[in-house]
Amino acid sequence: MRILLVEDEIKMASFIERGLKEEDYVVDVANDGEKALFLAEVNPYDLIILDIMLPVKDGITVCRELRSKKINVFVLMLTSKDRVRDKVLGLNSGADDYLAKPFAFEELLARISALLRRNKTDKTGILKIADLEMDQLKHKVTRAGKEIQLTSKEFALLEYLMLNATHVITRTTISEHVWHEDFDSFTNVIDVYMNFLRNKIDKGHKKQLIHTIHGKGYVLRE
Ligand code: CA
Repeated sequence: MRILLVEDEIKMASFIERGLKEEDYVVDVANDGEKALFLAEVNPYDLIILDIMLPVKDGITVCRELRSKKINVFVLMLTSKDRVRDKVLGLNSGADDYLAKPFAFEELLARISALLRRNKTDKTGILKIADLEMDQLKHKVTRAGKEIQLTSKEFALLEYLMLNATHVITRTTISEHVWHEDFDSFTNVIDVYMNFLRNKIDKGHKKQLIHTIHGKGYVLRE
């Protein structure tokens, strides 16, 4: 999952960035509202963490402009105080949720994963395709009831495939959402990881779930 973090306080931004990367999110940081809008237009983010008090353009304006440009990414707004006015303004400008500063990092993570799960799974946080199941909260994967051990990168890759099941995903899209590195030098790495995943998910099972679509990418389906 790729996240844009918009925060002008350098210490705060690097603290959040580091924490999110440890959780295997791909993170870009913008320090002002204008840069945030630029990045949100050129990159496909899954979620934007948007501070309200920002230089150049404030968070409320950024959010309004995103929505008027039909960029329907999830927006989690950070309000500086627990001010009712900020919350109302934030939600009216098109934010999906808000979090008041100061907050515990765990709380931020919980809000992020709740938003990313919205519309994709039920409240249990369990993704399912055929007999393959992923518990996003417990970070647990099973196939036919048998637990499969995945590295954190493999888990992130499978999660992305499961959230987009039945859609063909290109290598470029995978590199943008699951990896941080540039795509050009990177095609082989994705194929290598996809093979790791295939060995763990499909090997020994009659029904293959990970399919290669030649010249296009990959798809997870029955
Ligand atoms: Ca700020």
